[in-house]
Amino acid sequence: MIQRCDDCESWIFYPRSRCPQCLGDQLQWKQIAGNGTLYTYTVSRRPTYPSFAEEVPQRLAVIRFDEGPHITSTLVNVADDAIEIGMAVEPVFEEQPNSKAVLLRYQPADESRRSTVGKETDQADEIADSHLTEEVLSYIGKVGEPVVGYPISEHEVRRFCYAVDQLNPAYVDPDYAEEGLQVPPAFLSIPFDTDVPLSELSDDGIPAVPKGAMMPALPKLKRRLWGGGEVEFFQKMHMGDVLTKQYRVLDIYERSGGSGSMVFMIMEWTYTNQHGEKVAVEVNTIIAR
Ligand SMILES: [Zn+2]
Repeated sequence: MIQRCDDCESWIFYPRSRCPQCLGDQLQWKQIAGNGTLYTYTVSRRPTYPSFAEEVPQRLAVIRFDEGPHITSTLVNVADDAIEIGMAVEPVFEEQPNSKAVLLRYQPADESRRSTVGKETDQADEIADSHLTEEVLSYIGKVGEPVVGYPISEHEVRRFCYAVDQLNPAYVDPDYAEEGLQVPPAFLSIPFDTDVPLSELSDDGIPAVPKGAMMPALPKLKRRLWGGGEVEFFQKMHMGDVLTKQYRVLDIYERSGGSGSMVFMIMEWTYTNQHGEKVAVEVNTIIAR
């Protein structure tokens, strides 16, 4: 369903309260077939959202409906070398497991352009030459040594806020914050960021394992992608706090994707303050491929 203006007969997407052509407000929802052409596309090798971590590379596309408006979607059932700007495409309504959501994807209208490349297969037992050795799987549940960060100070918070353009006066303006400057939640991991000298980075580009973390060696998978994460907060942080963080491997599993097999590592960091109170728990997905 997209909108159409009763006054000037323009088709409208995204949804608005007034017609962008004539400013009329008599907009009706009309059903369309959803067919269109590929306006432009790109191949993203990093997931655009944690839910799509298993889908990389994602073929992000802008589709021009036959009625005119554009919509952002993803191409499926097509190999990269069969994608052509201007080709006719048709909608694929993809139901999501364990959810009522239906995603609108697009595939080539011409069946001869379609292929199953890029289609996710989640049967782990189909993966030939699995990376999940007993040694790798033995990391599940491992707990790292606690790592102590540097004390949270007004100076460091100010540096952080200016660096990320988060200039809320509650964080940076002592005249505004009568009860003392607050610490922005996003500062959580900053006291643990320390520069690694270039001489300590590996020549083959494999990222350094963070202090206190443990990751299995995966000699055939050289690259690490951040597959998204989330943080749950239990306490506010205060100036002068000294946080400790401790690592735990929650899970390790393997998926086969469009570019071969990938290993997903689910890592948990628990942050506590100097009083032993739990401040936050952060869960990140790291994808080795
Ligand atoms: Zn109009």
